[in-house]
Amino acid sequence: MDSEKKVLGLVYGNELLSYSFGPNHVMNSKRMEAFFRAIESEGLLSNDKILLIRPRMATVDEIMLYHDGKYVEFVREMSIEGIGLLDHGDTPAFPGVFEAASYVVGSTLAAFETLMKHEIKYAMNPMGGLHHARRGRAAGFCVFNDIGVLIEKARKEYGLRRILYVDLDAHHGDGVMYDYYEDPDLYIVDFHENGRYLYPGTGFENETGRGAAVGTKLNLVLRPGASDYEFEEKMDKAKQFISQKSFELTILQAGVDSISEDPITHLNLSAYSHLSMLSFLKELSSKSIIGPLIILGGGGYNLNNIAEVWTKIVKALIGS
Ligand SMILES: [Zn+2]
Repeated sequence: MDSEKKVLGLVYGNELLSYSFGPNHVMNSKRMEAFFRAIESEGLLSNDKILLIRPRMATVDEIMLYHDGKYVEFVREMSIEGIGLLDHGDTPAFPGVFEAASYVVGSTLAAFETLMKHEIKYAMNPMGGLHHARRGRAAGFCVFNDIGVLIEKARKEYGLRRILYVDLDAHHGDGVMYDYYEDPDLYIVDFHENGRYLYPGTGFENETGRGAAVGTKLNLVLRPGASDYEFEEKMDKAKQFISQKSFELTILQAGVDSISEDPITHLNLSAYSHLSMLSFLKELSSKSIIGPLIILGGGGYNLNNIAEVWTKIVKALIGS
């Protein structure tokens, strides 16, 4: 008998816990532990509609689809030394950081590859979405940018050209935005807290892309303290923007540091915002208008928000 069709491929495994800057840093292994505990206690690990995907390391060749070789080598050396900083302050090295970051990238690729085999409708890597890393440097807790590697892989190996990237993280996704600022085939919708009050201090609404890419980037700026009501107003603009084109792949970075009571940001959204965007994208994806949909966890440093909101996203994706 044919088993019930799987709907969601979810990357699950302790390898994702290794991307951790230690107990005194907000980006630590407790985040994935909180999420894994939550989905386990909800019985989702044995749900018929969920296919668990093992984390895998990206190869150096895969990482270099996006990153500069010299930078990849620098991370490898710093990983052996295991001390010091990978950037100018936020992103420390630790022993094994190279392997840990390679697992994040590889797991996003594993989710994508499973999605492209059409075994599932949606795929999710809760540890993915490291949107600050640039081609040649680490930034803001992000060593390798799995989103950039995914975009390059989708284009070079699967021939997917026009891609939509939606970012709900409280921080502006500057790595993706500026590394593709002149790319007319990467459409970006980025909700974030106003850069005057929050790292990385970029992403204003007059920034829409450069050259042939003018008009392909949409920055949606929220004031500190903004609630679901203000999100909803911006959501109307996002819907209009997304509906103007069709896409071959859609990537949703579902950072939960935009939810109330995150320790390092100042927004006041609830799960409603994330679920509202998700349901909009799910509907377009099911009509094949925006291609397959991959969800990446992104930031979020309040463990209750991680457990609550990502678990709700998983449930929404499988329709329960
Ligand atoms: Zn963030």
